[in-house]
Amino acid sequence: MIPYGRQEVTEEDISAVIEVLKSDRLTQGEAVTDFEQAVAQYCGVEYAVACNSGTSALHLACLALGIGSGDLVWTSPITFLASANCAKYCGADVDFIDICPQTFCIDTQILTSKFKESDAKGKLPKALIVVHFAGLSANMEVISQLCRQYNVAIIEDAAHALGGKYCGQPVGCCKYSDISIFSFHPVKMITTGEGGMAVTQSELLATRMRELCSHGVVRGDAWEYEQRVLGFNYRLTDIQAVLGLSQLQRLDNYVEQRRQLAVHYQACLGDDGLVWQHEPDLIVNTYHLFVVQLPESTDRRAFYNFMHQRGVGVQVHYIPVHTQPYYQQQGFAWGDFPNAETFYQRALSLPLFPTMTDQQQEVVINAVRDGMSLLCA
Ligand SMILES: *Cc1c(COP(=O)(O)O)cnc(C)c1O
Repeated sequence: MIPYGRQEVTEEDISAVIEVLKSDRLTQGEAVTDFEQAVAQYCGVEYAVACNSGTSALHLACLALGIGSGDLVWTSPITFLASANCAKYCGADVDFIDICPQTFCIDTQILTSKFKESDAKGKLPKALIVVHFAGLSANMEVISQLCRQYNVAIIEDAAHALGGKYCGQPVGCCKYSDISIFSFHPVKMITTGEGGMAVTQSELLATRMRELCSHGVVRGDAWEYEQRVLGFNYRLTDIQAVLGLSQLQRLDNYVEQRRQLAVHYQACLGDDGLVWQHEPDLIVNTYHLFVVQLPESTDRRAFYNFMHQRGVGVQVHYIPVHTQPYYQQQGFAWGDFPNAETFYQRALSLPLFPTMTDQQQEVVINAVRDGMSLLCA
């Protein structure tokens, strides 16, 4: 089966990990700091806090911004669950901003009207979690202007978008946001097995996140330490950090390889009635995912099954978060965010990963064509 995403682990990665395994420090050594500094430099930010998952990074970001019970956080319904769950961990309520049918990111017009309505009702959110879906940056100029106007903090969920660009700047540079977060899960742009990072230009937010990442403890002289807030053990290990550092050297190549594969899909499948994510000028998509929209008439489940029978591991990203049973219990229902739901009903991610061979891509393209002529009226 050709998977929809797959990591690459090289001999250099393996040697780097073995070296840490033979050393004195498996965790809390220098590798984590080195990895943090390398990612900070790559993104052009001052501060980076590594942690054990992208989800933990989102949780730390919410806590550092002071999000708590009684607060409201907005995010996209087309994302992985963690973009919404992180606010719930803090006791906050979540609401969603529907997506733009072309970019699959938060729709800025819908956001504008939602801000107006919520302001009139006195129910503004404390933070907006912006998801750069599939690696395509959302329209941060407009979003940050709105959030500044209404005094709302911004967290960029850049789990898909490490290596992407927005208006000439690296995604995650925090020019338009308070904090950006990344994930290093194996399907993401680079991997540490599990892992994540939060980056920011604010010393205060960085200090808070660092404390919260390790029990809320600040070390003093000799044996002394003080717990000032209720923190967690969200630490990344040095074993993971050296893997991340080694992988980071190949990030630009990965983006290039993914973009070439995406261009080839677009060139080969352009006439077949499929629609894909629009890439606006001045935005460089990382293509963490290559999501197509099937024609409306297509039976997606039959198409999915057909592809799997042909050895092509297509996937669906994502089931709209507000339709999950947990979020339905919080009062959301099908029908609440129509663009997200229409997107979902037609969405299918085709395999795309840096080590994908030309032959593998031909297998996918031929299977898509056969599936379309068989199943799309
Ligand atoms: C993967 C992902 C996360 C969570 O990252 P983990 O490292 O798996 O915890 C958060 N947001 C989005 C959009 C993701 O795709």
